[in-house]
This record gives sequence, structure tokens and C-alpha cells, in this order.
Amino acid sequence: MTQQLPDHLARLIRQDVQSMQAYAVQDATGLLKLDAMENPYGLPPALQAELGRRLGALPLNRYPGERVHALADALAAHAKLPEGCALMLGNGSDELISLIAMACDVPGASILAPQPGFVMYAMSAQLQGLRFIGVDLTPEFDLDEAAMLAAIEEHRPSVIYLAYPNNPTARLWDDAVIERIVQAAPGLVVIDEAYQPFSSRSYIDRLPRHPHVLLMRTLSKFGLAGVRIGYLAGAQALIAQIDKVRPPYNVSVLNAEAGLFALEHAQEYEAQAARIREERGRLLEALSRMAGVRTWPSDANMILVRVPDADAVFRGMKQRGVLVKNVSRLHPLLANCLRLTVGTPDDNAQMLRALQECL
Ligand code: PMP
Repeated sequence: MTQQLPDHLARLIRQDVQSMQAYAVQDATGLLKLDAMENPYGLPPALQAELGRRLGALPLNRYPGERVHALADALAAHAKLPEGCALMLGNGSDELISLIAMACDVPGASILAPQPGFVMYAMSAQLQGLRFIGVDLTPEFDLDEAAMLAAIEEHRPSVIYLAYPNNPTARLWDDAVIERIVQAAPGLVVIDEAYQPFSSRSYIDRLPRHPHVLLMRTLSKFGLAGVRIGYLAGAQALIAQIDKVRPPYNVSVLNAEAGLFALEHAQEYEAQAARIREERGRLLEALSRMAGVRTWPSDANMILVRVPDADAVFRGMKQRGVLVKNVSRLHPLLANCLRLTVGTPDDNAQMLRALQECL
């Protein structure tokens, strides 16, 4: 229960903020956490200890500087960012989404994204006082091209978000449809590749062809969700403008060093991502054999399922120690849907047992 704010303080806070729900983070104490698309593996103990020594040697009395620039360079090299593109860092891609809304806050501006989609696109628009236009996906969770093009024509959005793959549906979009949306866009298009480590395709090579397209990625799904590093890449002139609204020192020296360390050991993380992709295949197969469970293909480290009664299954799984995400009330298209994060083989076996018992 949140406490009531006294009137003299409440009148200082925006009405729309007061009636908003905070971004919900579920309490996972004592539960198998399969609700937030985290990499379940972590670093082997020897590497974790080495990272501890690296972090311990940092000059924490100084503002972040050189290590943050080094991280930006290392990320550009690791991503093989095309020639002529620039990159800026965020405290997770969540921060970048807020910064984009802030930089694009001109009178009448709007942000458009397919729905159901990642909640921060709408939230960033609301917080910045911009209009948000959600365009429903098809019932099979594909882009509704005609509806997207009609909404673009009608609203002329300043920013279009395309999460590729999408959260929570785990789907990639048809590349030809993306191209037609990019061509039709009167403003910016942000291709959000948060799930790139698990995806079979990327937009990155097409970036230089479209100066109004930005690519957003994060190290969260790579294996550093606790560290908070996201990046936005695109034409230098555009990144230079958005970078002006970034708070100075938004990436701490601890984050930067941990990010650099992870990139030096990228093979370790890439091997983990390969294991997760393999497990995803096994999990999808097992789920598709379960009576009463509907699945969709996944290009991410999550699987969307539909069950007969999502609330009851969610509660039952939680009682059995497994926390997943009940997305069934986020959007009418997600009725009775749960989002399952792909874990280790043991995690997934426990999750499947719990799910089976609750059907
Ligand atoms: N984009 C998408 C599509 C996501 O699903 C998420 C987080 N789940 C994010 C961005 C934010 O990632 P982060 O802030 O951890 O970088």
C-alpha cells in the first residue's frame, strides 16, 4: 500500500502522474525467476572474481570518462556498426526510450507502435505529454500492414517503434513490411533489437540506407540485465541531437567497466545465448505437445503461450515456485496468455512440470 500524499505536496505532482501505475516489477523472492527474459547463466566463478578485481580498482572519486568512451567504441566494434553511423549509450534502453521522447517533444508530436508491444514506448510518450498511437497486431501477432500504413498516414507520427523481435510476442516482422513502413514513415523509425542475441535476423546492415532509422540494443538480454547498458545507433547528425538530452554521466564507471569486461569475454556470453536458443527449441517442442497450450514461434528468449485460464495457471505455477509473466490483461489480443522466459534445462524442466500440473 502506498501512503497518501498530503494535499500541499500532491498539488506539486502532475495529475496524470498521480493516476498512473508505476512500472510493475514482480517480487521474485524464493521463486524460479522466469518472468523478465534474463540470461540464467551468469559468469563462471573465476571470471566473476576477476571482474570484482577490475571493478575494485576503479577510481570512484572521479566522474565517468574514458571507460565510458571505451565502452561505446567496443560496442560499435562488437556490433560491427556500419561506417558513418554513430552510437550513444543509455542506462539501459529504457533510458534511451525516454530520451527519444524528450528530444522529439515538439508541438503535436506523437509516437506510434504496434500493440501489444513493449510498455515503455507508450509510457515514455505519456510521461513526456506526447500522443501515443497503438496499432493492433493481427490475432496471430503479425504486423497489420494496412492498419500500420493507414495510422502512419493519419497521424504522421514523429517516432515509430518496431521491436524486432517483439515483446511479449517474440515474433520478428516480415522484412518487406518493415521496408514499406520505413518508406512511409514521415519521422523516425526505431528498430528495437533488445533480443538480438537470440534472433535469426538483424536490421543493422540496412541502417546506412535510411538516415531516419535508429537501431536500439541492450546488454540486458546478453547477460547484463543488472548492469544497465543500452545503446542507440544511427546517422551521426541525428544521434548528436538526441545525445544533447542525455543526462551527463548517465552510465556509471562501474557499468562501463562491467560492459567492457563482458565484451572482452563475449564468447562466453555468445555460448550462453546459443544454449538458450537450443533450449528454446526443446521448450517449444515440449509445449506444443501439451494439450490445451497454444504456442507461437519465437526469435527471442521468451515464449508466448495461451492456456485455458491464464490467471489460474499463473497462480498455480507461482504456488509451485515458478514465476512467469501473466500478460493476459495487457491487451485484448493477449487474452489468457503467459510469457515464459527460457531458462537453463533444469529451470525449464521445473517450469514445464509446474505448467502441466496447473492445466
Ligand atoms: N526493448 C524491449 C523490446 C524490451 O523488451 C526491453 C526490456 N524487457 C527493453 C527494450 C529494455 O531493456 P533494458 O532497459 O534492460 O535495456
